[in-house]
Amino acid sequence: MKSAKVLIVGQGLAGTVLGWSLTRAGIEWRMIDAGHERAASRVAAGIINPVTGQRWVKTWRIEELWPETRTAYLSIEQELGVTLWREMRIRRYWRTDKERRVLEAKCARGDLDPYVTAIDHDSCVLAPAARVDVQTMLVESRRRWLKEGRLTEGWVEWRTVSSQDTLTIDCTGAAARSGLFSHLSWSVSKGEVLRIAAPDLAPDTILHRGHWLLPVEQGDAWIGATHEPGVEDLQPTSAARDALLASAEKLTGQHHMPTQHMTGLRLAADDMRPVVGRHPDYPLLGLIGGLGSKGVLYAPWLARQWVEQLQQDTAFDQEVGIGRYFPA
Ligand SMILES: Cc1cc2nc3c(=O)[nH]c(=O)nc-3n(C[C@H](O)[C@H](O)[C@H](O)COP(=O)(O)OP(=O)(O)OC[C@H]3O[C@@H](n4cnc5c(N)ncnc54)[C@H](O)[C@@H]3O)c2cc1C
Repeated sequence: MKSAKVLIVGQGLAGTVLGWSLTRAGIEWRMIDAGHERAASRVAAGIINPVTGQRWVKTWRIEELWPETRTAYLSIEQELGVTLWREMRIRRYWRTDKERRVLEAKCARGDLDPYVTAIDHDSCVLAPAARVDVQTMLVESRRRWLKEGRLTEGWVEWRTVSSQDTLTIDCTGAAARSGLFSHLSWSVSKGEVLRIAAPDLAPDTILHRGHWLLPVEQGDAWIGATHEPGVEDLQPTSAARDALLASAEKLTGQHHMPTQHMTGLRLAADDMRPVVGRHPDYPLLGLIGGLGSKGVLYAPWLARQWVEQLQQDTAFDQEVGIGRYFPA
């Protein structure tokens, strides 16, 4: 392999999408990853939801990012010869009358166009939505890159990186808090999900009522996810399990037993926007971080910004660029 122009640290969602973007652009790169044991991407449901929250807010930049996101995953899918992208719809049930009133008011003003495609007595349909099979993308990309000698399994000590002469991009998820970007104002939120058997679900519909219920392969579904801001441990809890099972039962009218209980940490910046750019003191050190709970939507856009910065010296978008933390 030619000498690498870029070293990616971390093969979660951010590092993997960046790797494929650099490959498409013909930029030489290699990667080091410590394994997925603590990676948030290991438990990411991969959902892109166009409208979220009790106040029905359109996902930030959804219209602009959707076509790019879709194209990026379809292209990785083609490279790997596996299915990753699945277009879906979300049937969302409101939990209170207030939620319904807010929805109706926003729909009447056209605020949520074109994403609310139907409303009935207890729910509405949100579309288009999508699900990316993040776990398959990670496993298959890793297999490919290990074989090609691009990916090395190991742990990077950040002390040694600041003196290197290769551009090194930190894609380490929640671990970025202990690297050279530790001084940004980060926050974490623990999330838990369960895998359950639910063979009767329509395969193209995510059900949502406080929690989402996502049909996956072999008649199984994922129910998730909890949000616990500030909680750092990865221990599965019985409280989350009970809450998720109660939601699943409300959505399907059936009692379920979990076959898997998974946890992960989401990393977000204080303004809830992802962060991309170069370290102010070490310009050969870069970052894609703070993907929060919308990493699947943002990762291709952030990776493209690195490609354009390397090829054309284009500035990073101001709303996500690291420069917002270091005003001139
Ligand atoms: C329960 C749950 C459900 C979620 N569901 C969704 C969803 O439906 N849709 C969505 O868009 N997002 C979802 N997310 C968010 C999503 O998981 C994250 O945005 C995304 O996975 C973050 O990816 P990342 O690559 O930044 O970090 P990670 O996935 O954490 O990857 C970081 C990688 O870096 C490696 N690493 C760390 N430090 C070092 C080092 N020093 N040296 C070498 N390697 C290192 C780690 O081993 C790991 O492999 C969910 C998150 C959780 C917790």
